[in-house]
Amino acid sequence: MAGNSSPKIWLSSPHMGGSEQQYVSQAFETNWIAPLGPHVDGFEKQLQDYLGIGHAAALTSGTSALHLALIQAGVESGDYVLCSSFTFSASANPIVYQGAIPVFIDSEKTSWNMDPDLARKAILKLHSQGKKPKALVLVHLYGMPAPMEPFLEICREFQMVLIEDAAEALGSTWKGKAMGTFGDFGVLSFNGNKIITTSGGGALVSDNADAIQKARFLSTQARDPAPHYQHSQIGYNYRMSNVLAGIGRGQMEVLPERIQKRRENHSYYQQELGPLSGISFLPEPEGAFSNRWLTCILVDDEKSGGISREDIRIHLEKDNIESRPLWKPMHMQPIFSDYPFFSSGIAEYLFETGLCLPSGSNLTIADLQRVSGRIKELF
Ligand SMILES: *Cc1c(COP(=O)(O)O)cnc(C)c1O
Repeated sequence: MAGNSSPKIWLSSPHMGGSEQQYVSQAFETNWIAPLGPHVDGFEKQLQDYLGIGHAAALTSGTSALHLALIQAGVESGDYVLCSSFTFSASANPIVYQGAIPVFIDSEKTSWNMDPDLARKAILKLHSQGKKPKALVLVHLYGMPAPMEPFLEICREFQMVLIEDAAEALGSTWKGKAMGTFGDFGVLSFNGNKIITTSGGGALVSDNADAIQKARFLSTQARDPAPHYQHSQIGYNYRMSNVLAGIGRGQMEVLPERIQKRRENHSYYQQELGPLSGISFLPEPEGAFSNRWLTCILVDDEKSGGISREDIRIHLEKDNIESRPLWKPMHMQPIFSDYPFFSSGIAEYLFETGLCLPSGSNLTIADLQRVSGRIKELF
């Protein structure tokens, strides 16, 4: 076996398109080195047009976008908010920033996202105790869309604000409509490992013009209109800088290519590894188009002749290839383990058996061959 001298293959690394640097230079030349500025406006316009949504506010992160969505949903101390358990902690942290109580909901099998029947069960149980949850944070994990109809229905029926965490799902669609545009709010992330990146950044999107205007106001320290500094609300420093928005403008130009390449990575792995006994992939449910941000495999060691997820991960690591277990569910996290949880057992199973393979849009065919070759040699 090759030692650690093999070149590193990352899980998902930044991939610039070429024009980003020109936009950044332009920001320098015009001295727009600030939050706000023409690149921020331009980037927001590109996001709106791409998603087919009325309004977008470019922010410092997906986490800050979630936080502002919860604030606008009226979530306050002691309130209840439903949240996918199978996700990254950033989906749940802002609920706790507000002093509210996350109620974690397990996954269903077809998309790995929140189980709508369990969500309904949780809401009915809370209502029976006189507690009315105010919002629902629905995550489209690994770019796979959650089938939307039941969530739209639940949120209408129980008057809850629907917040889509589409941090991993830019470019994914459900029945042809972009993820992040179904709910009252959609959240995007441009962190370094996402499908496109501004090095760090995020956006809050909505068809509600007032809500996005309010997000811009809150994200720039909530300054009242006055010549002096006057504040009648608590503000945040969450606005994206004009320099980083320049990177975003360049990245938006190559987003369709990035999605296509990630999907090709997924097809390649499926073709090479699909025939191995005990390895399975998540197919797109009817109506779903996934950006395939990360390709995930499940490893059933009863069918693979005893080869486990960890065996594969460690074997890849020895050849300098980064792979990761799927997200550890929130109800299993020490910091969240005391919060209410409605279980189907699926998220735990996915965590125990799942592995994310290198999925960057900058992987070469030789990289993909190396990864799948290493896995195949174990079988
Ligand atoms: C990355 C991510 C976030 C947070 O986005 P940041 O821009 O890193 O703050 C939120 N939710 C999910 C599911 C993510 O993957």
